[in-house]
Amino acid sequence: MSATKYILLASAVAMLAASCDLFDEDDITPDDTAPDETPADDPDPEAPEAEDDAFLTDDGGRIFSYVPAGDLLPASGPGHADTTIYRPDIGFPLEDAAFLNSQVYRYGGSQGSINGMDGGQCDASNYDYPWQDTFCESRSRNQIMCPDGGHEGVDIRAASCISETGASHWAVAVEDGRIIAPSSSRYTIRLQSDDGTLYRYMHLKMDALAVSDGEFVSKGQRIGKVSNDFFNASGERVPTTFHLHFEMYQNYAPDEETAPIFDQVSPYMTLVNAYEKKLRDAE
Ligand SMILES: [Zn+2]
Repeated sequence: MSATKYILLASAVAMLAASCDLFDEDDITPDDTAPDETPADDPDPEAPEAEDDAFLTDDGGRIFSYVPAGDLLPASGPGHADTTIYRPDIGFPLEDAAFLNSQVYRYGGSQGSINGMDGGQCDASNYDYPWQDTFCESRSRNQIMCPDGGHEGVDIRAASCISETGASHWAVAVEDGRIIAPSSSRYTIRLQSDDGTLYRYMHLKMDALAVSDGEFVSKGQRIGKVSNDFFNASGERVPTTFHLHFEMYQNYAPDEETAPIFDQVSPYMTLVNAYEKKLRDAE
């Protein structure tokens, strides 16, 4: 990371910390008072500065920045400080500008008031940088990576708040692969690459998909529109916020005779890397 970007990142973290003044500290459980303040990527003073990396801006002229992996909003869960870029060559899963942040603990989320963020999902700050990780954000489900119950993916808002704009924001294939859709959950599209890496896209507009089950797609090909589709166990539609929930599974087998294990991993830094490449390519 360049020194300039590091400063931007540090100031973004400071701004977030300042915004949390509204939060009642007494309500924070002991586990939540010890966030990992270590930057995900210490700047190397010996490394030559790459001028091109100093500022990356999106098509709206906004400067991209992100909070380190594992640094979640206060009282929103332990997070998972995984800085690994698992797939350095994948594309970003949305065509347009996008904003990674919490759907539950920010404006428009059921727990937004915990962080003094009372308001609707279209609040302008939901559609701005810095990005914030939501892997292992608190949920009731138990997961291997988030043993106390956690959100096993990251949440991505589209370029605009669709409930207001009605705009179409497309999710695209992050790499070449085969579509497996829809799963029994009725709101999940899977994409599997040749080497078995599996991606799950959730909450797309399921009655207007651009792909079908078994179809082979190319990197960047449209899959479906970002939406709020969500169904309960009875199959009733229970809309969520407008966003893409994105998951990633590594395929691992120690040898050819052994059935592969699908290991869920945090896609956060893989997506940071993919988005930076996308912004750089657009310059
Ligand atoms: Zn999610």
